[in-house]
Amino acid sequence: MTPSPLAPLTTDALFGRIEAIFRRAGMNEVQAGAMARVLTAGERDHCKSHGIYRIEGTLRTVKAGKVNPQAVPVLSPDDGSALVRVDARGGFANAAFELGLPELAARARRLGMAAMVINDCTHLAALWPEVEAVTAHGLAAMVMCPSYATVAPTGGTDPLLGTNPFAFGWPRRDSDPYVFDFATSVAARGEVELHRRAGKPLPEGWALDADGNPTTDPEAALAGAMLPFGGHKGSAISTMIELLAGIMIGDLTSPEVLDYLGTTTLAPRHGELILAFSPGAFAKGRPGDPFARAEALFEAIIGQGARLPSQRRFKARAASVAEGITLSAEETAQLDRFLVSGLDAI
Ligand code: NDP
Repeated sequence: MTPSPLAPLTTDALFGRIEAIFRRAGMNEVQAGAMARVLTAGERDHCKSHGIYRIEGTLRTVKAGKVNPQAVPVLSPDDGSALVRVDARGGFANAAFELGLPELAARARRLGMAAMVINDCTHLAALWPEVEAVTAHGLAAMVMCPSYATVAPTGGTDPLLGTNPFAFGWPRRDSDPYVFDFATSVAARGEVELHRRAGKPLPEGWALDADGNPTTDPEAALAGAMLPFGGHKGSAISTMIELLAGIMIGDLTSPEVLDYLGTTTLAPRHGELILAFSPGAFAKGRPGDPFARAEALFEAIIGQGARLPSQRRFKARAASVAEGITLSAEETAQLDRFLVSGLDAI
C-alpha cells in the first residue's frame, strides 16, 4: 500500500526526498547528499529553522549562481602539520566537512589537536551536526564561521558583525555528547523575520533601527542592526569569530560577504574553522580521567534541575526515530513542487 503523503516519514525516506530535490536542481551527488543529510538531521531533531525550511534558500542560492552545485571539494595533502585544509571549490561547506572529517580526526588523535580549515564555501546549516560528527570520534570540538554583516558591535550602531554561530561538543562514553550551538546575535535573524510576519513586536534589546535607536519594530530592525547576545561579551566573541574564521583563514569577513552577495536573501559564502581536541592527550599525566570528571560536572548541572544544551534535541531525535517525521500538508506540497519543477519553483 502506498503511504499517504502525511503519514510519518522515516529519516531515510525524508533524506531520499530532499536528496532527489537537490539532484533535480542540478546539484551533484556530493553536494546533494551532504546537504540532504544535514537538513534531514535538522528536521529529525525538531530544529525547524534548519530543516526542510532551508531547502528553498539552498535552491535560491544555486539559482542565483552564488554557490557551485557541481563542486567537488579538494583535500590538501598531509603536510605533517595540525592543519587540515579543504577547498570547498565554491560548494556547500557540509560536503567539504564530510571530506575532511576522517583526516581531522586522525590528526587530532595523532597530535592531540588539529584544525580543519574550509575555504570558499557556502554555509546555511546549523553547526551542531558538525560538532557532533567530531565528538563521534571521541574528540572535543569547536566550530565557528562568519555570516553577513547584520549585527552592530556593542556601543556601535551599524551592521558590521555577522550572526556568527559558535558550537562546542564534548564526547561522552555512554550517552549523547554535550553540545551547544548558537548564534552570537541575541536572536537569529530568522526570528526577527518571523516576528515581522506575525505582526508581533520584538522583545526589548534585540535590535536598533537605521538611526541607531533601540527598536521593537521588526521592520525597523531589519532595516537597522541586530545586537550581539550578552552585550560587550557577545560582541567580543563575534569579533573573535571574524578574526579566526574569516581573517586568519584568509577568507571573507561578514561585511565582505555582504559586499559579495549584495543581499541577505542568499546563503552566505565564506570560510569555516573546525577545531578538534583529544581530551585524553591533554589530560595525560594529570590526575583523574577527563571523561569521568566531565560526567561528574554534567551530573552536578542536571542535579540542580538545569538541563544540558541539546537535551531537547536528543529527545526530539529519539521521538522521530521511533515515530517518524510528520510534515504538514503545506510542507509536503512544497517538497512535491520542488521535485517536479526544480529551480523553476523558486
Ligand atoms: P538557540 O538559542 O535556539 O539554542 C542555543 C543552544 O542552547 C542549543 O544548543 C540549545 O539546545 C541550548 N539551549 C536552549 N535553551 C536551553 C536551556 N534552557 N538550557 C540549556 N540549554 C539550552 O540557538 P540560536 O537561535 O542562537 O541558533 C539556532 C541555530 O542557528 C544554531 O544551530 C546555529 O548554528 C544556527 N545559525 C547558523 C548560521 C549560519 O550562518 N550557518 C548563522 C546563525 C545561526 P536545544 O537545541 O536542546 O534546545
